[in-house]
Parts: sequence; C-alpha cells; structure tokens
Amino acid sequence: AKGAGRNRYSFFTPALQEAAQWRAQLTRDLRVALAQDQFRVVYQPIVELATGAIHKAEALLRWQHPTRGLVSPAEFIPIAEACGLIVPLGEWVFQQAADQVQAWCKTLSPQFQISINKSPVQFENPDLQATPWIEQLRARGLSGESIVVEITEGLLLSTSAGVVEQLLTMSDDGIGVSLDDFGTGYSSLAYLQKFDIDFIKIDQSFVRQLVPGSTDLALCQAIIAMAHALGMKVIAEGVETDHQRALLSAAGCDYGQGYLFSRPVAAAEFERVRAQLTTH
Ligand code: C2E
Ligand code: CA
Ligand code: CA
Ligand code: CA
Repeated sequence: AKGAGRNRYSFFTPALQEAAQWRAQLTRDLRVALAQDQFRVVYQPIVELATGAIHKAEALLRWQHPTRGLVSPAEFIPIAEACGLIVPLGEWVFQQAADQVQAWCKTLSPQFQISINKSPVQFENPDLQATPWIEQLRARGLSGESIVVEITEGLLLSTSAGVVEQLLTMSDDGIGVSLDDFGTGYSSLAYLQKFDIDFIKIDQSFVRQLVPGSTDLALCQAIIAMAHALGMKVIAEGVETDHQRALLSAAGCDYGQGYLFSRPVAAAEFERVRAQLTTH
C-alpha cells in the first residue's frame, strides 16, 4: 500500500480483516468449484528404494481457480474442512483415485496401490448416503488393497466410537492405512498396533537435513526399526536429493517419495515418468 492515498480504505484495513475476507471469498468459491469441475487429482510416485520399482502413488488434490489460478491445498483444505465441503470433495477424490487405480491395475501392475488423504473431518462426518468404499472398489473389480488411506496421528487419539469403528472396518475390508507426517504429532506407540497401520510416512522435516551422524538420521533409523518390528513398511517423504535417497536406503527404508523422483503430476504424465524412472 506504498503509493495508496491516505483516504483509501484499503490503507487502513488491518491484515487480519483482509485475511478473513479472503477466507470468506474462498469459502464461497469453493462451494461452486466442485460443481464447476475446477478440481484435479495429481499423482506422485512412491518408489521402492531397493529395486526402483513403482507400484504406488499418492493422489493429491489441485484447485484451478478461474481467476486466482492454482490455489495450494495447504490453503484450501483447511477451509474445505471448516465449511464441511471436505466430505463431498473427499468422496470425489476417492472416486477419481478408484477409477485411476482400476486402469493402472490393468496397464501398470495388478498390485498397484493409490493412497488418498482422508481428513479427520471426513471421519467425524461420514457421508451416510455414500456407498461404502469397499463396495465401490468391488464394483470396479478391485479389492480393498488397491486403496491406502493416509491419516494423521491425531486421528488415532480420537475417542469417538464412530471414528474408531470406521478405521477398524476399513482395515477389515483390506483397505490400507498409512500414518502421514509421522513424528510431528503425539501418537503413542500403543496406538500403532491397536489400529493395524500398514505404512508409516516419515515427515519431510526429518528428511530435509539428513546427513551422516545427524539426529535426524538417528530418528529415521529408530522409526524404521520400530516400524519393521511391528510389521509395518516405511515411506520417506520429501526425498529431494540422491544423497538423502542413499542414506534412507542404507537405513533400510522401504519406499521414497519426493521431487528427486517426480513432482505430483497428471495421470498421463505419471505413466511417462514411471516408464522413464524404471528403465534406468
Ligand atoms: P501431504 O499429505 O503431507 O502431502 C505431501 C506434500 O508434500 C504435497 O504437497 C507434495 O506435493 C509435497 N511434496 C512431495 N514431494 C516433495 C519434496 O520432495 N519436497 C517438498 N518440499 N515437498 C514435496 P501438496 O500437494 O501441496 O499438499 C499439501 C497437503 O494438502 C498434503 O500434505 C495434505 O495434507 C493436503 N492434501 C492434498 N490433497 C488432499 C486431499 O485430497 N484430501 C485431503 N484431506 N488433504 C489433501
Ligand atoms: Ca499424505
Ligand atoms: Ca491393513
Ligand atoms: Ca505427509
């Protein structure tokens, strides 16, 4: 507001009020975005470190706003959670991922798995009209194993009977459970076993400054040892350098995900990236 005249209202608008207005506008825009087909799902490969094989991908949501361009999920997911839109939006993401994994099970690998992020708000407000995910998968000729749900540690602390039951039902149906951003929350080790977690994702903050002898490397090694002792696989997030990949691989980490391999990309691009990564 450097050149703004002193009578301009905007000159006096406190930053907080602007943030609130921006939020209110995004909330209004979000409500029409689903109907107007402004969302896209992109996929990021999850690479098996020992072999370089790619049989997994994480589905990530993108919002192409008609005037503001690409809005980051870090910005709009919290708003979608606050206004409840995350429930139908999350259902839409699942359906996109289910269609995609159906195709990739035929063309890429019969074991292909797509993981999707599921917000605690979706667990707390299940869409009772929606067909259960396992039925939607079976209708596509798939088993529960083709989908993995990524949850955060906070959900494991939930005391809501409905939330606990949904998690356990998902596992019974064979749908995978992955613990996202591991190390940043407060989950106790006891919860890991109670909920049949299949994968632990080491948060990118532990991977970023990974060097020999660092506390971060010691933490990664400890997480990997614990996860393996409990029969879980480990995925490292935010792998950006070959150095990080080598250290994680030496530490016995099962999978890596990050810009070193690929950014999240549209489905057609994913197929090209995967072919390129696995022929080298
Ligand atoms: P997340 O689940 O932890 O997803 C990983 C984020 O790290 C993604 O950001 C991804 O693009 C980014 N990333 C991947 N590799 C690297 C790397 O090497 N370096 C760095 N610096 N970043 C990397 P994105 O796509 O912006 O998503 C942000 C968050 O938004 C996600 O974090 C997730 O919590 C949420 N989100 C995204 N899509 C969905 C969705 O469909 N449903 C829900 N409930 N949440 C979603
Ligand atoms: Ca995730
Ligand atoms: Ca399981
Ligand atoms: Ca994460």
